[in-house]
Amino acid sequence: MALADVLKGLDDTNQWQEELYVQLHQSPELSMMETETAKEITRRLDSFGYQTQQIGGGVVGVLENGEGPTVLFRADIDGLPVKENTGLPYSSTATTVDADGNTVPLMHACGHDLHITAGLGAAELLAKSKDQWQGTYVALFQPGEETAAGAKAMVADGLVDRIPKPDVALGQHVLTVPASGKVGTVAGPMLSTGACIRVTVYGKGSHGSMPHLGCDPIVLASAIVMRLQTIVSREINPFAMGVVTVGSLQAGTKANIIPDRAVLLLNIRAYDLAVREKLLAGIDRIVRAECLASGSPQEPEIELYDDYPLTDNDADVTAKVTEAFVAHFGEDRVETLAPVPASEDFSIVPDAFGIPYSYWGFGGFAEGQQVFPNHNPAFGPAMQPTLKTGTEAAVAAVLAYLGK
Ligand code: ZN
Ligand code: ZN
Repeated sequence: MALADVLKGLDDTNQWQEELYVQLHQSPELSMMETETAKEITRRLDSFGYQTQQIGGGVVGVLENGEGPTVLFRADIDGLPVKENTGLPYSSTATTVDADGNTVPLMHACGHDLHITAGLGAAELLAKSKDQWQGTYVALFQPGEETAAGAKAMVADGLVDRIPKPDVALGQHVLTVPASGKVGTVAGPMLSTGACIRVTVYGKGSHGSMPHLGCDPIVLASAIVMRLQTIVSREINPFAMGVVTVGSLQAGTKANIIPDRAVLLLNIRAYDLAVREKLLAGIDRIVRAECLASGSPQEPEIELYDDYPLTDNDADVTAKVTEAFVAHFGEDRVETLAPVPASEDFSIVPDAFGIPYSYWGFGGFAEGQQVFPNHNPAFGPAMQPTLKTGTEAAVAAVLAYLGK
């Protein structure tokens, strides 16, 4: 069987994978600044015999191997501005300097170093066993997932015209559930659509003792915060999922000064695009209406950023990938996941090609190991069997389409 034959090389591949994982873990780079990471990926793909291109800050390697389907497998590569506190012997001490001259600690706190390493492992295993499969394999390494900028940047840099059109796109993420050694997926909405909204509302500054001469943006913003709570509770069908969170409310400097503006940062989530539209429309309507109610002297500014699409797994692709997982891992290592209320920009690439896709999770924490969520400073996945499982899952899913 093709998969078993391809995975015969896994022990050898795993030797350099563990070293590379430690190296990447100690040298994370911020979103859309992954220069050294991209160089390392390119160097490795070149050595495996891939045709490589730098596209939009990312790297794409293409391996043509005769007639057959084209399969794209994506790994994201960026780190986060988090100070690592895992206690691991290979903890990151890397830092960078931001635009304001501040030193920022860096950490692969979302496990994208595992994604790169598993993706490169799969790339090598496939390159070494071309007699076991046929078609075209596209290994895509995407920057800037954490800011929702990377997939867009690759598409804007001509991705669709620069590589063979895939028939299907695949992707994976290390998660806290299921346990390390297992994989999990679900057909339909797997990850929520999410977006951030910066709302600036205007008042009129005054002395704190003379509110009647100003227009208080803090009272205005507070009314907005309270009224926003009614969108999910009163406007969204109770059987649908929607989240509106006010994560930040900033205004003023001193107790006796009424400021002239307030800035709110909101975050929304939904598993359905119609719900997302309702949330956005509700926010827009409530902000404008409260400004009117307060007598605000200037139109509010409502700006969408870090905008993530829905990750909506194709039913047929997910069934085929799940079947391959069960055949390889056995039923007890393949779980059906509940939709995860996190977001991804993975689907932007398959949507740009107009092709179906499937995205799954693989476990990062051993049974009994204390679990910290992705983005937590203590997020320290067990290197094994996590790395092996991620590599095997990638190869199994790809060979479901390309295997002989
Ligand atoms: Zn993340
Ligand atoms: Zn991530």
